[in-house]
Amino acid sequence: MDKNFQEEQFTGITTFTPPLYKQRYQFIKDLVGKYKPKKVADLGCADCSLLWMLKFCSCIEVLAGLDVCASVMKEKMHRLSPLPGDYLQPAERSLTVTLHHGSVAHKDSCMLGFDLVTCIELIEHLEQSELKKFPEVVFGFMAPSVVVISTPNSEFNSLLSGVMLFRHPDHKFEWNRAQFQSWALETARCYDYSVEFTGVGHPPRGMENVGFCTQIGVFVRKYPQTSESAQSKEPTEAAYKTVFKAVYPSLKDEKYLRNAVVGEVIFTAQIIKRSLMDRLMLEHEEYNDNPAERKFQPSINYFSEDLGRLVGKHVEENMKPFVNGNVVYIPLTTIFSFPKVNRLCGTLEKLRELIAGKVTLSSDGSAVVFNTEHENEEN
Ligand code: SAH
Repeated sequence: MDKNFQEEQFTGITTFTPPLYKQRYQFIKDLVGKYKPKKVADLGCADCSLLWMLKFCSCIEVLAGLDVCASVMKEKMHRLSPLPGDYLQPAERSLTVTLHHGSVAHKDSCMLGFDLVTCIELIEHLEQSELKKFPEVVFGFMAPSVVVISTPNSEFNSLLSGVMLFRHPDHKFEWNRAQFQSWALETARCYDYSVEFTGVGHPPRGMENVGFCTQIGVFVRKYPQTSESAQSKEPTEAAYKTVFKAVYPSLKDEKYLRNAVVGEVIFTAQIIKRSLMDRLMLEHEEYNDNPAERKFQPSINYFSEDLGRLVGKHVEENMKPFVNGNVVYIPLTTIFSFPKVNRLCGTLEKLRELIAGKVTLSSDGSAVVFNTEHENEEN
C-alpha cells in the first residue's frame, strides 16, 4: 500500500499521511522555496492556516489573504499577529500581513504587485458567474509571476468512502483531469502563461490510472510585466474591506535597528572591556604578589592577540582599546569590526549615527568609554 494512502477497511475511512491539506500546504512551501517570492497572496484563505505557515518563509515580505467569508477568516487571524519574541529580536526582513474580505470575482488594486498567488481548493466553491470572472481578475488584473490552483480530481472520488456527488456540500462542481486541464490550458493561453500539471495524494498501488486526489496547475507568466502594463491597470474602487493588518518589527525599520545596534555595541564593548581587564589583572598579578595592592595601572594595553581572536582579524594600532586612569576606551573601529555590528550597520558612519546620544563616547567621538571604578570595587 502506498505510504501516503491508507484505507481502513473496517471503518471505510480513507486517509492520507500526512493529511491531504498538509500535503497541499507543503507543496506551496516547496514552491516558495523554488521561486522565492517576496509578495504572496492566498485567495480563499479560509482560517488563514496556509498564511500562518508562510509567515515563517524568510523570503516573504508581504502576505495577503482574501476570503468572501469574513467570519472564517477572523476565527484564527490573531495567530498572524507578531509575538513578544518578534519584538525582542526583530527579524532582518520586513513582514506585513493583511487580510481582506471580498470576492475573487472583483478587482481591487490592493491585490496588485504580487509574485505568487495561491488558490487552494477555491475554484470548486465558485458559482458559474464567479468562475467566469476569475481568470480575468487573477491572471489579467493581478497578473503575478506564478499562480497555483488546486482542486479535487473527481476521478479519485470512487476511492473515497462516503462521497456521493461532491467531496464537500459547498462544492459547485468537481472536475476530472481533462476538464481541469482544458480550462487551465485555455486560461493560460488567453493570458500568456505556461501551465504544468501535478498533484498531491497518490492513488493506491494498482489504481494509478485515477491520478492524484488533488490536482494542481502551476501557471508561470511567460513575459515579465513592464511598468507600462502594470500602470495600465484601470484604477478600481476598493472592492475589498481590510479586516486585519499586522506590521512585524523589523531591522529595516530604523527604530528597531537603533535598539538592536545600541544593544549589540554595549554588549560587544563589555566583552572587550572584560577581556582587557582580565588581561590587565593578570599582568598586574605577575608583577605584584600582594593581593591587597591590586590596582589598575594607567597603561596602553597590548592585548591585540586576545582581541584579534575576538574580531577574527589583525588588530591595527588605532583599534587597540586602552585604559587611562579609571576610564577604558574602546575604539568604535574595533566595535565596528565585530561581524554582527558590521552587518547591522554597514558603515562606520551609520554606526555613529545609530548610537548617537545612546552610548557614552570619548570627547572626540572615536571610542566607547566605560568607567572602571565599580569594576575595582567588585574585584
Ligand atoms: N484555501 C483554504 C480553504 C479552501 S475552502 C484551504 O486550502 O484550506 C474555500 C474557501 O474559499 C472558503 O473559505 C470560502 O469562503 C472561500 N470562497 C468561496 N468563494 C469565494 C470567493 N468568491 N472569493 C473569495 N473566497 C471565496
